Amino acid sequence: MMKQTNQKTAIIPHFLCSVLGHKYEVSRQVTYHVKEYKCKKCSKELTTDCNGDLIELTPKYREINSILSRIHLKRQARIRREELLTAYKMSS
Ligand SMILES: [Zn+2]
Repeated sequence: MMKQTNQKTAIIPHFLCSVLGHKYEVSRQVTYHVKEYKCKKCSKELTTDCNGDLIELTPKYREINSILSRIHLKRQARIRREELLTAYKMSS
């Protein structure tokens, strides 16, 4: 009996979403263009693919995003370093 009740409560948000539509909010900014979204109601996750379309966040895409995020952070750090170096050269 307990199991049945649990299943029911889990189905309701999905049902509401299919009627009213998902309520997505950005859960993670991966790069400037790639973001991960999560539905506030049913916790369904989406991400942006390389064409800028929204697709379901599968484990494969989650992995791609974590790699992208790492590259993005590294690039950001390098740009900042180059900017500092340029500023230093200009001031000397
Ligand atoms: Zn939803």
